[in-house]
Amino acid sequence: MKPVGLRDPRTGQTPWAVVQLRKENLRADSYNLVGFQNHLKWGDQARVLRLIPGLENARFLRYGQIHRNTYICAPALLDETLRLKIEPRTILFAGQLSGVEGYTESIATGLLAGLYAASLARGEEPTPIPRTSALGSLVHYITHADAKDFQPANITFDLLEPLEEETRKRVRDKKERHRIQCERALAAFDAWWSTIPHPTAELRA
Ligand SMILES: Cc1cc2nc3c(=O)[nH]c(=O)nc-3n(C[C@H](O)[C@H](O)[C@H](O)COP(=O)(O)OP(=O)(O)OC[C@H]3O[C@@H](n4cnc5c(N)ncnc54)[C@H](O)[C@@H]3O)c2cc1C
Repeated sequence: MKPVGLRDPRTGQTPWAVVQLRKENLRADSYNLVGFQNHLKWGDQARVLRLIPGLENARFLRYGQIHRNTYICAPALLDETLRLKIEPRTILFAGQLSGVEGYTESIATGLLAGLYAASLARGEEPTPIPRTSALGSLVHYITHADAKDFQPANITFDLLEPLEEETRKRVRDKKERHRIQCERALAAFDAWWSTIPHPTAELRA
């Protein structure tokens, strides 16, 4: 990984790269080497990984493997409220299966699908999350991408609704453009959120 903000305490220098060891058990005798999914043969992995300073004598419990995500072709199968087009009253998709990638994205689409399912259970039509919001942009991406070549995505600024030409010409600074996009996204999300009946409010009533 990139050694952003890290210095070697022995030399004060920034290293070329760093590896993250994630503790796997309470005994702290098993660690996951983050981000080492690869195709190398196991013998080669042991040889190469032992070249990393500190891992010269490591014992490898499992070797890196490439994992494959399971996901449906959301642009062909889902509507804007994460419902299966051919079974919109009862089947919704979220998380990795729906074509989003990452912990936050999976949790967020899970929450969204839950809210939509609650609307359906009340006999109401779910209100789609606005495209301007970050979550709306992600859902917009998975439901509008090219179905012939669909690839899962994380949320990035690229997915957010672009600013109008006039604003882009006026605001040259990328950080400022992103700030405007975030401000709009939050405002759109808040407006939509205020229309959603909250279970806690129902419980209080
Ligand atoms: C090695 C690796 C590293 C990753 N690192 C990161 C990271 O650092 N940051 C990040 O944001 N994302 C990371 N991801 C991606 C992230 O893990 C996924 O995007 C996210 O976990 C997907 O969440 P999910 O709830 O949709 O699916 P999952 O987390 O896969 O959950 C699905 C659950 O359904 C269960 N299940 C499956 N079939 C059935 C069935 N028939 N009946 C009942 N239950 C069933 C499974 O056992 C599982 O518990 C990583 C993924 C991998 C593989």
